[in-house]
Amino acid sequence: MDCLFCKIIKREIPADIVYEDDHVLAFNDVNPKAPVHQLVIPKKHIATLNDIEETDLALVGRLQLTAAKLAHEQGFAEDGYRVVMNCNEMGGQTVYHIHMHLMGGRAFTWPAG
Ligand code: 5GP
Ligand code: ZN
Repeated sequence: MDCLFCKIIKREIPADIVYEDDHVLAFNDVNPKAPVHQLVIPKKHIATLNDIEETDLALVGRLQLTAAKLAHEQGFAEDGYRVVMNCNEMGGQTVYHIHMHLMGGRAFTWPAG
């Protein structure tokens, strides 16, 4: 049984896709917490950050590279933005397919809470 994000990758559930290559997909978050809020995910199903293996290192790096590329394209790379990856229940993870939140277009405070 595919997870929600695997279904988005397979186009079984619609999403507003903003970037795609052989390894990575990015789409708008359905419940945005910032003027720009996108999720960058690997096409390979990896449930949590704890499940990343040595062979996934390039793929995980590609998530960040994609987030930075999207930030540049959308014009807020220099002003600044936030990327977040939540792990498991206490980390606030609700979808168990790793994803990098890319949020931009407003100022963020720290700590995030
Ligand atoms: P998490 O809480 O796991 O770090 O983040 C999951 C994110 O996925 C949330 O920000 C939530 O709004 C988003 N999300 C959940 N279901 C869907 C969906 O069906 N489509 C899209 N585009 N985003 C979703
Ligand atoms: Zn998945």
